[in-house]
Amino acid sequence: MIERLQAPRGTFDVLPDDSERRAAVEAAARQVLGAAGYRRIETPAFEATELFARGVGESTDIVQKEMYTFEDGGGRSLTLRPEGTAPICRAYAEHGMHKLAQPVKLWYLSSFFRFERAQAGRYRQFWQVGAEALGSDDPAVDAESILLAVALLDELEVQQVRVRVSSLGSLAARRDYRERLQEHLRAHADQLSAEVRARIDLNPLRAFDSDHPDTREVMREAPRLLDFLSAQDAEHFAAVRALLDAADLDYEVDPTLVRGLDYYTRTVFEIESGALGAQSAVGGGGRYDGLVEQVGGPPTPGMGWAAGVERMLLAAGEGRAVAPEVDLYVAVDGGQPARQAAFALAAEARRARLHAQLELGGRSLKGQLKQAGRVSARYVAIVGDTGSALRDMDSGDQEDVQVSGVVARVLRELRGLGA
Ligand code: AMP
Repeated sequence: MIERLQAPRGTFDVLPDDSERRAAVEAAARQVLGAAGYRRIETPAFEATELFARGVGESTDIVQKEMYTFEDGGGRSLTLRPEGTAPICRAYAEHGMHKLAQPVKLWYLSSFFRFERAQAGRYRQFWQVGAEALGSDDPAVDAESILLAVALLDELEVQQVRVRVSSLGSLAARRDYRERLQEHLRAHADQLSAEVRARIDLNPLRAFDSDHPDTREVMREAPRLLDFLSAQDAEHFAAVRALLDAADLDYEVDPTLVRGLDYYTRTVFEIESGALGAQSAVGGGGRYDGLVEQVGGPPTPGMGWAAGVERMLLAAGEGRAVAPEVDLYVAVDGGQPARQAAFALAAEARRARLHAQLELGGRSLKGQLKQAGRVSARYVAIVGDTGSALRDMDSGDQEDVQVSGVVARVLRELRGLGA
């Protein structure tokens, strides 16, 4: 027997029922973000590896161990995009978007690739909806961006949403803070998990994410970044909070909030859903004022977020998949002449913009009526060799109708005009 092949570990097929639910996510994103003036962008699925090395940061888990990197036939190092912000900053610089009215507001719905430990809610190819506003450091951009993320989750009826907000300050303040944190970690090195200990030099902030009990104990006493903010950064954060309060958003300030990417400055936030298990983060983001410059563009402030499509769907509950409507099911009750007439009728119905399905399974008439019921067809045309009938599937009434009159009749009925 030939071995049956499977999709690679950590990936999944989007089957037709799933695809209906995903279309709802896309429609919600278009509605919520489009209404706020965000326009859709699509960047390539792969980029020069250097973009992520520079943009996301060499010390991050993503760049260290999670990227799908390969050499193409021309010897260039390319990487399947692990995230959406660095590519958008690249596109902003490449297309001279700084010359447009600022901020430039963009949204995306794309797939991303990370070599992560596969488990429920964590995949190696996953989809994100994201929004980025480039070119303004106004605290209102931060607050509006956070509110839009929450609005999208509300629109999708994501359950038990919890929003945490913090500020990481400027890169300079973070450097000073990093040293203080490293001192604290080194002083308690013997209590830390091996993983956190190994990353004291490279990425000490991630120690806040550890779920190792002794490490958590050490982190309770650790210096807090919020206490190291410069006066301007503290003022910016206060302004963001005041706007969120004015908008009546329920959120929590969490000084231990760190994100897995290096580029964040000032505001960061994360949204979790209590309806999810261990992988409870549905989305997150923040401000990245140095990133466009980092990838070779002009100094440009930016703010944005991404939310995981699979996790939004998981946290939104099952929800009934909406099957496409069927106005007319064309059944065949006869030989070759009936089959040809049925084929022509289905084509005519589609030209008239009816949702029409033609019997293609070679079923008996009884089987065809059953199938019409399964797809919830509103009407069934039964086409014979010498005549045809139209059945109203709601009332069960059936009448002889000439095949040439079926489409006009169905159109009249659907418009509520009767026979
Ligand atoms: P991040 O870009 O890491 O901030 O992730 C933003 C959101 O994308 C997360 O809150 C998740 O909802 C989703 N996400 C990130 N990584 C994965 C993954 N490996 N599988 C599924 N969803 C993910």
